[in-house]
Amino acid sequence: MNGVNQPILVLSEDALRQTGKDAQRANITAAVSVSEMIRTTLGPRGMDKMLVDSTGDITITNDGVTILNEMEIQHPAAKMIREVAKTQEQEVGDGTTTAVVMGGQLLKNAGDLLDQGIHRTTIVKGFRLAMNKTIELLKELGVKVSLDNTEELKKIALTAMTGKGIENAKEELAELAIKAINYIAHEEEGKIVINPDDVQIEKKQGGFIKDTELIKGIIIDKEIVHPAMPKLVKNVKIALINTALEIKSTETDAKISITDPEKMQGFADQEARMLKNLAEKVKQSGANVVFCQKGIDDMVQYYLAKYGVLAARRVKESDMEKLAKATGARIISGKEISQEDLGEAGLVQEKKIGEDKMLFVRECREPKAVSILIRGGTEHVVDEAKRAMDDAILGIASTLELSSYVYGGGAIELELARKLREYAISIGGKEQLAINTFAETLEIIPRTLAESAGKDAIELLVAARSKHEAGSTEYGINVSEGKTDDMRRLGVVEPTKIKVQAVSSATDVAEMILRIDDIITSGKSSAPMPPGGMGGMGGMGY
Ligand code: ADP
Ligand code: MG
Repeated sequence: MNGVNQPILVLSEDALRQTGKDAQRANITAAVSVSEMIRTTLGPRGMDKMLVDSTGDITITNDGVTILNEMEIQHPAAKMIREVAKTQEQEVGDGTTTAVVMGGQLLKNAGDLLDQGIHRTTIVKGFRLAMNKTIELLKELGVKVSLDNTEELKKIALTAMTGKGIENAKEELAELAIKAINYIAHEEEGKIVINPDDVQIEKKQGGFIKDTELIKGIIIDKEIVHPAMPKLVKNVKIALINTALEIKSTETDAKISITDPEKMQGFADQEARMLKNLAEKVKQSGANVVFCQKGIDDMVQYYLAKYGVLAARRVKESDMEKLAKATGARIISGKEISQEDLGEAGLVQEKKIGEDKMLFVRECREPKAVSILIRGGTEHVVDEAKRAMDDAILGIASTLELSSYVYGGGAIELELARKLREYAISIGGKEQLAINTFAETLEIIPRTLAESAGKDAIELLVAARSKHEAGSTEYGINVSEGKTDDMRRLGVVEPTKIKVQAVSSATDVAEMILRIDDIITSGKSSAPMPPGGMGGMGGMGY
């Protein structure tokens, strides 16, 4: 300790510092406890958590991200684990619990390796090797699927909707999801591209889930601006205008002192002509429906109504974009409207749904954006159904992104673990131990599912392992019957992307936490993040 290379840290008196093993332990313990907490929510038989906030409000959920967001997490390493869930949610939209549980378990097992005296650089190196191998294996083991494989896609949607409490309507919702995806899927540079945002999911309480409907077009949560306008227009020519159909107030407020009442009248007449002109431009273009992102002056409304044009104002920009995709219209300013800017739809109709009136743009010829209107008896039901629909759409989209799915219920994790153990032997050395640890970590998924089935988890896991040893690679945990089972037969299938992302962010976070050997908590502000923050945790795709 000559101090030459020691950085000099000037800390305030109330700053806390932990170094070396203590720091590592503290981080691991914090991260593991967060992941342990949400572990029991995994799978269709997962438990719910009751979250009570400072005002006493209660949320009951088994959604990993929701729980992690609501929990007041203090420890920086625990916060890093929460980031894993966020990344997973953003990149895939599902598999958050899986990713967090894997991250926590990886750290827990790494702790055991540290106890055995294995250096963390060896552990990190072994984990990296294992992660790369796992991703490679996922690519190999994934089952190819394309947009035409409706039956498979339906199973993926059904698995994604598991546990959303809408059991008896799942089939219908899955079918709607697939139809919707078929409309919005398009080719870009020889690849099928699906942007889940192109499926607009609206919900309105009332009716039954089975009344949920796919609209070949867009629903706008707006009313017609003027009562004299038609409530229904067929053979629609639609104009999408992003400027106000008004005369700017500055133009009329201009400070001109008019003394002559005749001049005053002339001024008003001129304004009226300009407003009429705005409506006439619409009429001349051939448009019979107008969606305006800004306001529409009363006078313009009056004339549009007179010309038989249906119009809505203050339409959200995001809705305007969807309308453009659905109808083929161009979003334009109201100054110049030409025929080519107009889009088409079979029908636009104002309809009362539940309490409110909404505008339905239907029967678009080749819509690149469509809508699903979720119905259901109570607010809870429509909320759950919307979440289920979101999951179904995202599940199908992420499956098609890699054109590949894997068997769930822990089947893929068991198979990956088995193959990783073979791979570990080929690597040898101390890294072998880390790779084996990685394999064991993957098995936390089937083990947790087995625990949720209420059976002896170890016994079930051993039984499932031996199925895999014997070549039944599609065997996982049947959680409702508490036995090993063929996941292909049960239709438990998941996008490969879920697993790729989960494995890579779990490894990233474990590595990041393992590299830290110093925690400095300053007295006043919040605890510092490790250098580089969470930057390394991006999408990993292959
Ligand atoms: P996550 O947030 O990770 O998506 P979930 O609570 O949705 O967590 O659980 C996902 C896990 O449950 C996956 O491993 C999936 O394969 C498994 N799973 C889903 N449906 C079934 C089923 N019917 N039988 C067994 N396992 C299932
Ligand atoms: Mg899930």
